Amino acid sequence: MKIQMVDLKGQYLKIKDEVDAGIQNVIDNTAFINGPIVKEFAQHLSDYLGGCYVTTCANGTDALQIALMALELKPGDEVIVPAFTYVASAEVIGLLGLTPVMVDVDYETFNVSVDNIKKALSPKTKAIIPVHLFGQSCDMEPILAFANEHNLYVIEDNAQAIGAEYTFSDGHKANTGTMGTIGCTSFFPSKNLGCYGDGGAIFTSEAQLAERIHMIANHGQRVKYHHSVIGCNSRLDSIQAAILDVKLKHLDEYGSARYAAASYYTAKLKEFDPDEKFFITPKELENSTHVYHQYTLKIKNEKRDALKAYLDEQGIPSMIYYPLPLQEQEAFKPITRAAEELEKSRACAYSVLSLPIHTEMTKEVQDEVINAIREFYK
Ligand SMILES: *Cc1c(COP(=O)(O)O)cnc(C)c1O
Repeated sequence: MKIQMVDLKGQYLKIKDEVDAGIQNVIDNTAFINGPIVKEFAQHLSDYLGGCYVTTCANGTDALQIALMALELKPGDEVIVPAFTYVASAEVIGLLGLTPVMVDVDYETFNVSVDNIKKALSPKTKAIIPVHLFGQSCDMEPILAFANEHNLYVIEDNAQAIGAEYTFSDGHKANTGTMGTIGCTSFFPSKNLGCYGDGGAIFTSEAQLAERIHMIANHGQRVKYHHSVIGCNSRLDSIQAAILDVKLKHLDEYGSARYAAASYYTAKLKEFDPDEKFFITPKELENSTHVYHQYTLKIKNEKRDALKAYLDEQGIPSMIYYPLPLQEQEAFKPITRAAEELEKSRACAYSVLSLPIHTEMTKEVQDEVINAIREFYK
């Protein structure tokens, strides 16, 4: 059998009866848009996240855009964003006429730290978008303290880490996406909580802000055909909500399965390369769980592209998330203010390689991946 980066079919087969019934129910009731299941799913997701307000929307990029729109930022206002992330985190900033200010990520964790964020502060700074990249939380406590001190909004891009949990120094725990002013996520099929099309959601614990977010996602109207602000049309459809409502019940189990697969990779790869001569395995933090949206190695000695080519030849998929830091992307050059050198973001982009990981991984498949890597270095 061909090895895949993500096995959505195997996962579907295990929940097929429930998912099929949920989809059929939507079709039987023809409540395709804003059917009751959309509200039910939003409520279940809110319960899962500890009770925040949840607004569902059309995708994760819209979620970030609507979050920024809800904060009433003005053209020229600066928003701090990591240089090493998926484009969407920064794209929405540019789209709204705001200025993305790129900061470096930590080479070990792939995430932004408060030290990097500090370097980017200016009188125009209004918000920070920490991205919980690859499934592990940014170190939020100092980031939240810094934001509080300087009156900045925090929008967590939680598209890759839903289900991860951060522990504060006093011992209390919080879900990623629920710590900042607003949290955003994506239900793109391959995400940890993915639907069978596009979807997204926005979280906040502030009632007034939640109402504003809801209104903006719905053409800026509170009352139908009465538009108080310019909004957009961004909806999660009922079929996707029905699928997500089934999958949400399995989210923690999915996170554990990914974690187990990652642990196996790390144990075997470290056995082979104990002194990190060839590559660096993912670092796990003490104050965050890791839900391994991606299992990402940093390949040393500029061997990344050669290793990837070798794995391709052997029929082993691997992916480069992401090949360019944002400051090197054509679209961002004219609009970005770079706070510093961004050399670690560059170093990440030029060394990362993500291995296949999903909820249906078997040790046999992982052994094939690991053996191919060993062969390459022989
Ligand atoms: C997937 C992703 C998004 C965007 O989600 P879409 O649903 O594809 O629009 C945003 N940020 C990050 C970090 C992502 O991984």
